[in-house]
Amino acid sequence: MRAKLTCVEGVAATAAPTALGADAVRLLQRLIQIDTVNPPGNERALQLELMELLSAACFDCELLAAEPERPNLVASLAGRADGPTLTLLGHVDTVRADRDEWTRDPWGGEIADDMVWGRGALDMKGQVASEVAAAVALAGSGWRPEAGTLMVVITADEETGGALGARWLCEQHPEKVRTDMVLNEGGGQAIEFDGRTLFTLSAGEKGICRFLLRTRGRAGHASQPGIGDNALLKLAPHLDRLHRQPPLEPIEQGLGFLAAVLDEEVSGAAGMERAVARLRESEPELTGHLAEPMLGVTLAPTRVSASQKANVIPSVAEALIDCRVPPGYGEAEVRERVGALLDGEDYELEFTETVVGSTSKLDSPLAEAISSWVSAAEPGAALAPSVMAGFSDSNWFRAAFPDASVYGFCPQREMLETESAPLIHSADERVPVADVELAARFFYEIPSKVLAR
Ligand SMILES: [Zn+2]
Repeated sequence: MRAKLTCVEGVAATAAPTALGADAVRLLQRLIQIDTVNPPGNERALQLELMELLSAACFDCELLAAEPERPNLVASLAGRADGPTLTLLGHVDTVRADRDEWTRDPWGGEIADDMVWGRGALDMKGQVASEVAAAVALAGSGWRPEAGTLMVVITADEETGGALGARWLCEQHPEKVRTDMVLNEGGGQAIEFDGRTLFTLSAGEKGICRFLLRTRGRAGHASQPGIGDNALLKLAPHLDRLHRQPPLEPIEQGLGFLAAVLDEEVSGAAGMERAVARLRESEPELTGHLAEPMLGVTLAPTRVSASQKANVIPSVAEALIDCRVPPGYGEAEVRERVGALLDGEDYELEFTETVVGSTSKLDSPLAEAISSWVSAAEPGAALAPSVMAGFSDSNWFRAAFPDASVYGFCPQREMLETESAPLIHSADERVPVADVELAARFFYEIPSKVLAR
């Protein structure tokens, strides 16, 4: 990609330049080719390349690093007058990839079947490439915000929780990343239902309440099973009960999602049951991985430990339960749901990790701008507000700037939500070229809509 080196100003944002899509795709290929598997991450080389592009287009750039090899990039483009700040947010670290499981090189960035293949194509180097290509094209053309500031914040270390990335930035340097509006990952995927197209708008994230489920017994020599009281055998029936999840609950954000997709009023527990049944009938996958997690507490056992010795009957057995809760829920709600699910009281719960979920209000200038962009891009299409089951950098920005509108949105039309969701963190991760181009156009067009007087 070539950016103008002279910082001319005074050009109004027009239609996206024809080269924008191709620039975004080329940048994505390049980003995939730089291995940023976290751990160890090593995001520095990639961040330097992005900084060079943004600097050449007249962004003020700064690298802020908790560890030298793992910097975060903060780039800003000031407007002609005071006003709000819009942040295009993205992370450039990825999860690992096992070459043997892939059809193509996970770090090749090849184009085949009209897709860009590679680790991070969907999560989330594709969005980062679209954001940066759009920002460079805008600023390079001489465009400046009419009011306010356009920021591009590219973080390291998202995949392991952001301790060196967004969390560190928001907690240690809030003045550098202070913002009113954020566009991040987690939404924008197309859903088709009943002849209509919807794009998810992620306006919240579930919280985490991980706990140890523990049973106790009495140790003894394993050669005489009757001599002890085996804690592991007492744990097993409890684990078996977790096949059943806690019942769905009429959580406000989940009802909003069902109402948008079904295009009808959905309220109360009975209304929720009917709506979920209707959705499940034609879209079982969408219901299972997107709708149901928005409607309550989920429990997934991920680790078990008991005796340290092969020949000793365990006196203590523990299972780690990865529990995800709707925004606003905490340990008390989890204890209640678990109590209703398990039999008896011969177990203990010990919470090991708690992160409160977060949401952003949906009535905001940014949500309005996204909504009108969607209607213009695809007449008849609408937004479906959603809550992510997982966790992203949005959480740290909501915590640091409670009044900010923080959304996950990167339009993705060619590949439906039900096709892309199983590819994230999996083998053969890939993104359609057309979706990278569409996203670049979105990130090019949205800043002038919300940074105006
Ligand atoms: Zn991600």
